Amino acid sequence: MLGYANAAFDMLKRSEIPPYPPFYELLYTYATGINPSLNNRINAIFRSGIPPSADLAETLYNEFLKSDLNERMSSVSARMHARISAVNEAIDGAMVTASAYSGALQAASDDLEEDLEPQAMRTLSLRLLAETHRMQETNRQLEVKLEASREDIAALQRDLDDVRRESMLDPLTKIANRKSFDEGLADAIDDARRSGEPLCLILLDIDLFKSFNDTYGHQTGDQVLRLVAMTLKSNIKGKDLAARYGGEEFVAILPSTDLRGALIVAENVRKAIQAKELLKRSTNERLGRISASFGVAQYRPAEAAATLIERADRCLYAAKHAGRNRVVAESELVEIEEVPAKDISMV
Ligand code: GH3
Ligand code: MG
Ligand code: MG
Repeated sequence: MLGYANAAFDMLKRSEIPPYPPFYELLYTYATGINPSLNNRINAIFRSGIPPSADLAETLYNEFLKSDLNERMSSVSARMHARISAVNEAIDGAMVTASAYSGALQAASDDLEEDLEPQAMRTLSLRLLAETHRMQETNRQLEVKLEASREDIAALQRDLDDVRRESMLDPLTKIANRKSFDEGLADAIDDARRSGEPLCLILLDIDLFKSFNDTYGHQTGDQVLRLVAMTLKSNIKGKDLAARYGGEEFVAILPSTDLRGALIVAENVRKAIQAKELLKRSTNERLGRISASFGVAQYRPAEAAATLIERADRCLYAAKHAGRNRVVAESELVEIEEVPAKDISMV
């Protein structure tokens, strides 16, 4: 997999494909491996040895990445409806023929109760033969239609799985989005309550990102978001979940992990982000380094998901306040006594 990804990037460097963001996005998606149909197609292209061209990259981009999710969802749903109607029609047709056939058999059996002349017997058997052929033909057609439907439904199922998988991902970074984070955290809390295992949350926010965007542009900023997403994702494992919480904030859920373990993970991610010297792909311009601040909190029995997030956020705020590019865990926070609010605003 990684071999192919490296091959993809090498090819991109050597080929005629200009380093436009959509093409980068195509290969980024390829390297993440989240879209199996796209990967199969690109692997086949590499195996064929045909040098990828800008045209080919554009075709792939339009087919796999451009279309918007709602549009694809409606297309799957429309095809599903059309398929169901076709199957219903085929079954209705077969039932009409089957009931006609059963009527013909009944009539024949009534006729047989009487003494029939050889000529009448012959007519009757010819009639039965014709009806049987008609029935056989209808059955054959039904089989063909059902077989076609089966293949179509399997393709629809795959498309539906792709759409469902994508609806759980952040389109820019291709890691879990806020929706999957919310669901993942609710599940992790349920599990922690049941098992009594510890559970930790890491919240990270890129430092001074506004000024980075202002200096180098939003598109370069977007590449940094992808880099941070991949750095976070590659530093967690197993049941852990990395997600984009929003804007330049990311989050990791770490089940079966205590505060000490979570601190180590956060510190590894912090160092890995800091260690990267950023180079602009298109111009080789040096962009320096970026850093991020981290808040780490451990789940407390019976608390709500929102409370855990709030505590991690408070640690993150403390990390910013203490000078950024650092990890703060709640154990390091001086417990501040809540000052009763005089001025209450509902938010
Ligand atoms: P701090 O260290 O205090 O977090 O400073 P900051 O500049 O990172 O924080 P602030 O909240 O003032 O700015 C966040 C910036 O993140 C604003 C916006 O330019 C940038 N940002 C948010 N979402 C995106 C995005 O999807 N793409 C890009 N390129 N930038 C984004
Ligand atoms: Mg922020
Ligand atoms: Mg920030």
